[in-house]
Formats: sequence, C-alpha cells, structure tokens
Amino acid sequence: TEKIRIGIVGHGNLGRGVEVALTHCPDMELVGIFTRREPSGITPVGEAVSVYSLDSIDDFRDAIDVLILCGGSKDDLPRQSPALAARFNIVDSYDTHNKIPEFYAAVDAAASSAERTAVIAVGWDPGMFSINRLYGEAILPEGETYSFWGKGLSQGHSDAVRRVPGVKAGVQYTIPSEKAIARVRDGEQPALSTRDKHVRECFVVLEEGADAEAVKQAIVTMPDYFADYDTIVNFVSREELQRDHSAMPHGGFVIHCAQSASGVKQVMEFSLKLDSNPQFTASVMVAYARAAYRLHCAKEYGARTVFDIAPGLLSPKSPAQLRKELL
Ligand code: NDP
Repeated sequence: TEKIRIGIVGHGNLGRGVEVALTHCPDMELVGIFTRREPSGITPVGEAVSVYSLDSIDDFRDAIDVLILCGGSKDDLPRQSPALAARFNIVDSYDTHNKIPEFYAAVDAAASSAERTAVIAVGWDPGMFSINRLYGEAILPEGETYSFWGKGLSQGHSDAVRRVPGVKAGVQYTIPSEKAIARVRDGEQPALSTRDKHVRECFVVLEEGADAEAVKQAIVTMPDYFADYDTIVNFVSREELQRDHSAMPHGGFVIHCAQSASGVKQVMEFSLKLDSNPQFTASVMVAYARAAYRLHCAKEYGARTVFDIAPGLLSPKSPAQLRKELL
C-alpha cells in the first residue's frame, strides 16, 4: 500500500518532534518541512530532509496527503489553520482552551467548503486528557473528575518569571500535590482549592546587583500566575540553570472517582510522565494524521476534535487485525 505523505509546517520544538515521530511510522513518509523563515537557515533533525518556504506550499497540493501544523497557538494557528485547511488536510495542536469553539468554526468552514479534513486541538491537554475526562464523566456520571498537571515546565509561567525586574533568566515548574492526589485516589471526592492542588517552583538567575528578596516578593505575589499558589523561589547560577533546567518535561493525572451511598468505590485514572512535552505532543499529532487521511479518503470532510475520532483510526493496523487482537 502507498505511504501517507506528510508535510510539516513550522520547525520549532513541535516540528522537530514530528520529524522524529515519523521515523517510527513505516506507513508514512515526510515530503518536507515548510517554514516562514529562510529555508537554508533551518537545520532538520533528519539528514536528507527537504526544507521549503511556506510561500511555495501550493506547489505541493498533489504531493502531500496531510499537513501537520506546528505553529504556536497564540499567533500562528488562528491564521494558518483555516488558511491551510482550505487547501490541505491538516492536524494541529491548538491549545487555547477557551477559544476552541470559535477556532473550530473557522477551520470547519474552510475545510468543509474545500472538501478537506482537519483534526484540531490534538495533543495531551487538550487531547489525551480530554478523552479521559470524557470517559470518566460518561461512564460514572455520579462521580467527580480531577486534573493535576506536572511535574512540568510551564512556558507561560516561565515567561512571567522572566518579565520580573531583576530576573536575568528563569523557569517555572508546576508540581501536583501528592497529598491531594492521594485523597482523590482514595475516593473521598474532596473539595480542593487551587492552592491545595499544585505547588509552583521557580529557578531564577538574578541580574547583577538585583535584590533577591524583592524579586522573590514580586514573583510570589504576582496575580493570576502565583498569588493563589504556594510558590517556592530558588536562586541559581546561569550554569546551573543551563545544566539542570533545559529539558521540557511535563505530564499529569486525570482521575475520575465515584462513590455510591452504599460505599461502592470506582476510580478511573490516566497519567502521563513525559521527559519531553513537545516530543509526546508531536507523537500524538502523527497518529491523528493517520486518522485525518483515512477520514478524508472516506469523504468525511470538515473539522474534527479528538472526541469525534474513533480510536481504531489512529492505529496502523486494519480494523480486522484490531478485532482479532481484542479477543
Ligand atoms: P515554538 O515556539 O518552538 O515554535 C512555534 C513556531 O515558531 C515554529 O513553528 C516556527 O515557525 C517558529 N520558530 C521556532 N523557532 C524559531 C526561532 N528560533 N526563530 C523564529 N521562529 C521560530 O513552539 P512549540 O513547537 O514548542 O509549540 C507550538 C505550540 O504547540 C504551542 O503554542 C502550544 O500551543 C502547542 N502545544 C500543545 C500541546 C497540547 O497538549 N495540545 C502541548 C504542547 C504544545 P517557522 O518555522 O514557520 O518560523
């Protein structure tokens, strides 16, 4: 059978991750990477991988089955996803949770009228976590769902730390409270405040002559980002930050628990422990690219989210093979 021909749009962390994930998928082949920057300035992970200007993408309309969009959710995808869904089948990892309905509408309109298939907001959250919340709530409607994130590097909170006067560099980790998780697993269905669920820990490099105490106060009292949490601030050298805090780990837990009046306890739990957040997100996108291709072949046009896609469509195995393995 013919391979699914993939194009990568945007070569940041996610774009590099997709390149790597594709090397584990013999049913797919990478046609090339498309960038807004000067193509000669991009270094692909793989040798012999072609890099093209995004301006030339229309030349590839017959050569690509699915484009995997690896741009940022804030500024890139709101423009790129609808525009490209009018010309290609796409997968993206749009993650601005409260704007997904309007983003969906824009992509759906573009993809439907062009008879293309677009799978949006794919990854782990939104993505794998969303599916597991849905399973919990559908199967045990009497229960309660809890999401915990971390231990993980948060890009938004790290940016906020770096904007504090006196801070030269820094990162922020979100850490779930072990105590809170234990109570949830126990089936207690506790009421947990923001402060109960997560701790925030920062590693900060100070500017020369900066007042450490003032920097710490500015961080821990910052509204929206830190004020509602217990926040630990550690001061480290530039070398330590580079050495110990350059990776992008993440993960978390979705736990759904229900307890009946007679004491029957049911707990559903899904967890991820990721050494590399972008590498994992990229791997999820590649599996959904397979689904996008199959849906398009079946003339199922328009936008879809993870809720709309049957799990078997993610697998390289045929439905018949999957049925055999279920038994
Ligand atoms: P990056 O900032 O690394 O890359 C985003 C885009 O910026 C790239 O596609 C690239 O486009 C451009 N870019 C990258 N590096 C440079 C550079 N050095 N100079 C100039 N431009 C550059 O973001 P990530 O790949 O880490 O993440 C992308 C998005 O993925 C995030 O915004 C987030 O919303 C989403 N995400 C979703 C998750 C989920 O669970 N759903 C989980 C993790 C991330 P170009 O090549 O065209 O210049």
